[in-house]
Amino acid sequence: MTARIREFLKARKDEGPCLVVDLDVVRDNYLSFAKALPDTRVYYAVKANPAPEILRLLAELGSCFDVASVSETEMVLAAGCTPERISYGNTIKKESEIAAAHRLGVTLFAVDCDAEVEKVARAAPGSRVICRIHCDGSGSEWPLSRKFGCEPDYATDVLELAHRRGLVPFGISFHVGSQQHNVEAWDRALASTAAIFRGCAERGITLSMVNLGGGFPAKYLRKTPKLESYGKAIFRALRKHFGNAIPETIIEPGRGLVGNAGVIEAEVVLVAKRSPEDEVRWVYLDIGKFHGLAETIDESIRYPIRTPHDRDEMAPCIIAGPTCDSVDVLYEKNPYPLPVSLAIGDKVLIEATGAYTATYSSVGFNGYPPLRQYVI
Ligand SMILES: *Cc1c(COP(=O)(O)O)cnc(C)c1O
Repeated sequence: MTARIREFLKARKDEGPCLVVDLDVVRDNYLSFAKALPDTRVYYAVKANPAPEILRLLAELGSCFDVASVSETEMVLAAGCTPERISYGNTIKKESEIAAAHRLGVTLFAVDCDAEVEKVARAAPGSRVICRIHCDGSGSEWPLSRKFGCEPDYATDVLELAHRRGLVPFGISFHVGSQQHNVEAWDRALASTAAIFRGCAERGITLSMVNLGGGFPAKYLRKTPKLESYGKAIFRALRKHFGNAIPETIIEPGRGLVGNAGVIEAEVVLVAKRSPEDEVRWVYLDIGKFHGLAETIDESIRYPIRTPHDRDEMAPCIIAGPTCDSVDVLYEKNPYPLPVSLAIGDKVLIEATGAYTATYSSVGFNGYPPLRQYVI
């Protein structure tokens, strides 16, 4: 919570829940990444929060961008970024989308199988391709599972096919899982990456770049290692596996760049006990899983929640959203301590909600409008 956000919330008209993002925090975060990983370019993962103000600020600061769709590409270009600073990192693209991005000037695409190479070769001839390899995501709170990336042993074949199809086999990418607490998580993926670099070299293909992905955490309730420790661990792993021939590297932070820059203000709609002796209260907010807090699925992300009564005695609560859908429960398996004096109408602040919230909000489920966002 920053003083600017506090002032903003004090002055605003109460029109339901809203997210407020402080651009000063985004700027500080960007500069911290540049400092912690000085030889690595930042490609902001636009999906984390595509607000035009954020894209404009980062474009001005010299950031590059990781996009997943044509409309994200257009948003980044509209923010003043040039197409050479864009990486199309989604491995799942229609051929028509690849062609549209290519017409907009994008020449760097991620692939993770032969069929995707064939599409890029047809729709964006001569482009550079990065092969994404699979990572198990252990140590992260929001793993990206088996949906993306080929087995490392197969990457050399994929890149060789790209070469035969007239594309430029450019490098390897991976993602160690979002909200990654283990600073050593990059080590194993970099060992595989170095082996692929060698395998490609044996076939006469020289790779240039390693895309280290995202995974850098935002501070929620759990303590997180400093960005500096990630930078050091990654550099150590690069030295270990590549020796003196460290390739060009990029990172794609999403959560780590914008997560702690945003705060949601919400309101308590109801505090209910299911029987007089019930010790766990149900607290219903005017925001839930469908209005921005989707990352509470499986209670994966546990946001810090502040109330006006935080000095009072605390007791465990089940926290739920306002909609008539039973999945709209935020924390139940692991009840959340809130003040016993918390009352209907109280405002609560849900902190570190700058990433993966506003665009996860449904359009009008149960008649609730999408989460309003202010970028200040
Ligand atoms: C979502 C995503 C990111 C951002 O991940 P964070 O954990 O939020 O930093 C980076 N790269 C790719 C390819 C992604 O899909």
